[in-house]
Amino acid sequence: MLPFKVVYSPGYDLNLGPHVFPSQKFRMIAEKLLADGIAIPENFIEPEPAADADILGVHTAEWTRKMKNGRLTLSEIMKLEVPYSPELAAACWLAAGGTILAAQEALTDGFGSNIGGGFHHAYPGHGEGFCAIHDVAVAIRRLQADGKIKKAIVVDTDVHHGNGTAAIFADDDSVFTLSIHQLNNYPAYKPPSNVDLDMADCTEDAEYLGALFPAVIKALDEFEPDMLFYVGGADPYLEDQLGGLSLTMRGLQERDRGVFYEARKRNIPVVTTLAGGYAKKVEDTVQIHVNTIEAAKEIAGEFPPQVHL
Ligand SMILES: [Zn+2]
Repeated sequence: MLPFKVVYSPGYDLNLGPHVFPSQKFRMIAEKLLADGIAIPENFIEPEPAADADILGVHTAEWTRKMKNGRLTLSEIMKLEVPYSPELAAACWLAAGGTILAAQEALTDGFGSNIGGGFHHAYPGHGEGFCAIHDVAVAIRRLQADGKIKKAIVVDTDVHHGNGTAAIFADDDSVFTLSIHQLNNYPAYKPPSNVDLDMADCTEDAEYLGALFPAVIKALDEFEPDMLFYVGGADPYLEDQLGGLSLTMRGLQERDRGVFYEARKRNIPVVTTLAGGYAKKVEDTVQIHVNTIEAAKEIAGEFPPQVHL
């Protein structure tokens, strides 16, 4: 069993069919965590959809309204790259509620994992790259509003730059954004994060981890965040169809473990979200995400939560 909660809802699955975004992965990850004995059913909790007020903490009233009533323009739908449906909107609100819940749980357990979310390409006023609502930003603003945290760091390891995150928090000194990504990949325009680690095509494990870990350590030591949000992309994997880096499955898990270790060593609660993963075999994407939870379990065992009373 896990010493922390995993947040999951069957509503995360958008049933997109043959689309490159494998939305069935959410269900498959939940099933595999159980099948492999990493988690037990009692570790799972279901989120409520985020309240509109929480969404509006990040997104414009116009975009929030359009997502709710489905009145997106053709160009907005093309930018989003997933077909609009009421189910899509519901799944976005659920994923945001899921990341809020995972963050609340992380306050007491040291870790909280959303088996969804990580929609880091969503901007305040539009969606793009499969991301309509920025669940991580919504959760940060909600926990700040509740007085649970003051400062947060977002460590984004998706192969694609965290453009939405960088744009949302550009003028917000309370949130530190760190993105490690393939330079020569979507999005074409990359608004600056606090730290951008631009990786060359075909970068392998050692070089990638050699760039990531010192940057994470420096950020944690200097910024001293109250919570770390991990956007754990599976797409730096060498078999990924939308990524051009060359990380192995073992390297990806070392990445996860290393980031979690540095955070928990400093008693910083960690919230994990999934982000992208487009391996030729969906089973590989699922395994990489499962490995992230397994890494969290390992580090959680090493650093039990110190509850502040
Ligand atoms: Zn990605």
